[in-house]
Amino acid sequence: MTTKSQDVNALFEQWILDAETKMLEDDMFVKIKSYLESTHPEICGKCIPCRDGVRKLETLFDQYIQGEATLKTLKEIERLVYNLRASRCSVGLDIGKNMEVILENNYHVLYSPVKKY
Ligand code: SF4
Repeated sequence: MTTKSQDVNALFEQWILDAETKMLEDDMFVKIKSYLESTHPEICGKCIPCRDGVRKLETLFDQYIQGEATLKTLKEIERLVYNLRASRCSVGLDIGKNMEVILENNYHVLYSPVKKY
């Protein structure tokens, strides 16, 4: 099932219950970046996976938005998302969990623009 354009936050609960729910592909990257930016006020800066990882993820999603993403971009996104499991508190852990759900449910959208074959 494809949803109408929604806020990323509003989709998380639905995704956990229904793995078939997808974001609209054309605005997915912008919405993910917007979600990451919305977490800035909560990030205290005490640990690297959250403090640096979220900013780095935003630059990688910029590459998708600008049509410059490669397979390396996707692999780096995956690495940074799983790295968030090493965050020191629930802020980073929750961002990582949400991003893992995004990757799990929309991997084809991220993979399609960068696949080689
Ligand atoms: S995970 Fe927690 S401790 Fe680490 S930077 Fe984010 S808010 Fe600070």
